[in-house]
Amino acid sequence: MGEIIRGKPVADKITQELIEEVDRLNSKGVYPKLSIVRVGARPDDLAYEKGAVSRCKKIGIEPEVIELPLDISQEDFIKKLRSLNEDSKVNGILIFRPLPQHLDEEVIKYEIAHEKDIDCLSPINQGKLYEGDTSGFPPCTPTAVMEMLKFYDVELKGKDATIIGSSNVVGKPNALMLLNERATITICHSRTKDTAKLGSQADILVVAVGKANLVKENFVKEGAVVIDVGINLLDGNLCGDVDFEGVKDKAGMITPVPGGVGSVTTSILAKHVIKACKLQNNLYDIL
Ligand code: NAP
Repeated sequence: MGEIIRGKPVADKITQELIEEVDRLNSKGVYPKLSIVRVGARPDDLAYEKGAVSRCKKIGIEPEVIELPLDISQEDFIKKLRSLNEDSKVNGILIFRPLPQHLDEEVIKYEIAHEKDIDCLSPINQGKLYEGDTSGFPPCTPTAVMEMLKFYDVELKGKDATIIGSSNVVGKPNALMLLNERATITICHSRTKDTAKLGSQADILVVAVGKANLVKENFVKEGAVVIDVGINLLDGNLCGDVDFEGVKDKAGMITPVPGGVGSVTTSILAKHVIKACKLQNNLYDIL
């Protein structure tokens, strides 16, 4: 059976490092703060918010939740966002997406201050990721995948990596990150002719689709590292996109759901808040 690689030890290590960083910031009179902007009260937003708030508190980041009404106008939304951009006490801004349809993300993404955009909504941060410029903020979920691979000493250079799913928030940025680490990448999406074949050629298989148990044993190469980003509800239970029971004996390493990548994401969010705070206070190279 493959090694089950869990997110908790990764999240615990990052959390401990961040607690120490916050201590050093506090000793300089600097107190990091995250503003979470939520429109309405979608259950998945609320669940993520709960995890993010408690992670921030544990680390010593002040979390602020700004709940906006579902019928807020685009003008008022932008007004609020600009006030957060200008508030020197706020170091990071997280906007829950997708936004309601009447709020135009294509406009809003240009409004968020890129130096506070800790989850890569701004085209400036997207461009930095594209260029391999590490001064920006890549999206938290694919960054969590990369932290998992690093923590569990998975060699990436020269390896074949297949990413199933090509969304702007997970699949596509994850492919770029793996490419930046010199893996050879293949990206699959809903129109890919033979995803199982392309998956079964990969040393590293990352799956981010949103379909329970899509990836069966025939998608996986013997000994491959399988990272399941999917979060699905099946018969009232959380599960990933990978048929865990069917794949676990063939994989060399495999993440569970729950307890895998999802548990690392909020610690990456916190890490980005601290990075933003240090950059904004000219402390990045000092602390
Ligand atoms: P998304 O925007 O719906 O994108 C899904 C991607 O999967 C698309 O590229 C789609 O292709 C592709 N796809 C759909 N059916 C496919 C198939 N049969 N074979 C191959 N590719 C297929 O989803 P997302 O936001 O990236 O999220 C993906 C999953 O990750 C979801 O379960 C979500 O809940 C989870 N998630 C987890 C975290 C975390 O922290 N763990 C964070 C964010 C998301 P097309 O582009 O052709 O439509």
